Amino acid sequence: MDEIVIIGAGLAAVTAAESLREEGFVGELTMIGKERHRPYERPPLSKEFLAGQQPIDDAYLFGADWFTDHDVRLRSGVTATALDLDAGRIGLDSGEWLGFDAAILATGAEPRVLELPGVERAHLLRTIEDAQRLRRAIEAGRRMVIVGGGWIGLEVAAVARAAGLEVVLIEQGPLPLQQVLGERVARYVADLHLRHGVDVRTGTAVEEILDDGERVTGVRATDETLPADIVVMAVGATPRTGLAESAGLPVGDGVEVDERLRTADERIFAVGDIAAASNTLLETRLRVEHWDNARRQGELVGKTVLGGTAVYDWAPYFFTDQFEFSMEYVGHGSPDDEVEIRGDLDAHEFIAYWMGGDGQLTAAMNVGIWDVNDTLRSMIGTRVDRTELTDLR
Ligand SMILES: Cc1cc2nc3c(=O)[nH]c(=O)nc-3n(C[C@H](O)[C@H](O)[C@H](O)COP(=O)(O)OP(=O)(O)OC[C@H]3O[C@@H](n4cnc5c(N)ncnc54)[C@H](O)[C@@H]3O)c2cc1C
Repeated sequence: MDEIVIIGAGLAAVTAAESLREEGFVGELTMIGKERHRPYERPPLSKEFLAGQQPIDDAYLFGADWFTDHDVRLRSGVTATALDLDAGRIGLDSGEWLGFDAAILATGAEPRVLELPGVERAHLLRTIEDAQRLRRAIEAGRRMVIVGGGWIGLEVAAVARAAGLEVVLIEQGPLPLQQVLGERVARYVADLHLRHGVDVRTGTAVEEILDDGERVTGVRATDETLPADIVVMAVGATPRTGLAESAGLPVGDGVEVDERLRTADERIFAVGDIAAASNTLLETRLRVEHWDNARRQGELVGKTVLGGTAVYDWAPYFFTDQFEFSMEYVGHGSPDDEVEIRGDLDAHEFIAYWMGGDGQLTAAMNVGIWDVNDTLRSMIGTRVDRTELTDLR
């Protein structure tokens, strides 16, 4: 294999490049990145950077030297616009075509935007520029309405409250995160936000973003109008599957790949937020929008592109920080699972265990208790005796 092209230049892409070099690939390696930045971490954009506690430079994954040292041709500010499978080449918005022996799609996801009047005035949060704009708005603003009670919406709420803003968080469902955490733990998260003064409105939908012709003045929701000078839309993300789709590759909720992250075309792979991959541990197809998944799949694809036999066989993992709620979650629980809590909920030091109908542990979350996630990971998929569950301290 002489030429590999990675489309996208986020965490999954850069980890794939690193892995390919570590696995001994000495051919030409090109990475195409739409953004004008070197690859960077997104988690700080809704946490330390947004809170003004960390300079943006700390978010970059590697220095510029890394790319020259590893002979990776990083093409920043360039978009891949076509994937021509017959000719084995990738079209760029610069007019060039790049040949490849293998290509890795790592184009990530983009924020979902609700079709509402005035929606163009809402802040989205995905890129450095989005975070810089939102940071400036927080510094100058007084009242924020956040549409969507997912992880990013909740993290932004925590940062904005800490900065002294009035914050209303609008969630369409019965509780923020209920679909992920189930009722009991979702209630804990909602209570935390309420205690910190976030006005959490559930069962509410936004119908319009209002302005005075120049700036945002509020939102019209199901039953009332809420004043705001900042509106943040945080209603999830959509995988960027356009290239794969137009090339005729199977796409469902993401680009469909097997357990080695290979699409229906054996030269094309997909990793990170974009990939709907066969997970051999959970025996299901999964698309995961988390940092750890992008990193691990990047590592894995560096092996499988070169013919390695490793597979996607791990449980998903993610983390968040909101006020004094700081946690790691491993597994793939369902909102209908039963939950057992061990430890001290009020002190934000506990472990939540999710159990499926067959008594198997589907997921676990350590809150304020550290260095236990590997132990929890090893328990996922096993039958557990509830009387023996502890907070592992
Ligand atoms: C604000 C925020 C906070 C987060 N916090 C957490 C957290 O606390 N914990 C956690 O586990 N996860 C978190 N995540 C999720 C995590 O950051 C993502 O899962 C991860 O970034 C996915 O990496 P990726 O490389 O697949 O995609 P991305 O990071 O989206 O990178 C894809 C890149 O490809 C580029 N691209 C797209 N199309 C093209 C094209 N046609 N040509 C060239 N380039 C293209 C994009 O511009 C982008 O730069 C957060 C995400 C965000 C946005």
